[in-house]
Amino acid sequence: MKLTGSCHCGAVTYQVDGSPVRMAQCHCNACRKITGTGHNVQAFFKREQVAISGKTNTHDSTSDKDNKRTRHFCTVCGSRLFAENSASPQIIGIAVGSFDDSSWFKPEVILYNAERPEWDKIDKTITTHEQMQ
Ligand SMILES: [Zn+2]
Ligand SMILES: [Zn+2]
Repeated sequence: MKLTGSCHCGAVTYQVDGSPVRMAQCHCNACRKITGTGHNVQAFFKREQVAISGKTNTHDSTSDKDNKRTRHFCTVCGSRLFAENSASPQIIGIAVGSFDDSSWFKPEVILYNAERPEWDKIDKTITTHEQMQ
């Protein structure tokens, strides 16, 4: 699969060559806060499959499992694009809505259902975990 995407203003663009190793939808408190909506959807790729051009700023936080989460956002428009986890440094997560065409995306798993707001309805056919998997 060859995929392209960008932030809202276009200062950061990226290309992906390959298929995602994992596709997930997360309702944890951090994902809700950083997106400002009920959940975050990410597709995860091997780092070498992703070529990024343009500058991002980062913000680090600590996950429930004590791993460092680094989230990248555009320095111009603030769009959140990429996420890394110190537990899997060879993997990069990409915010699915930033792809130019995301019609291929289908979450394999829903995480942190226990923290999901009632108004954010989920697809009951998708494997759902109350916390992290
Ligand atoms: Zn931007
Ligand atoms: Zn989350």
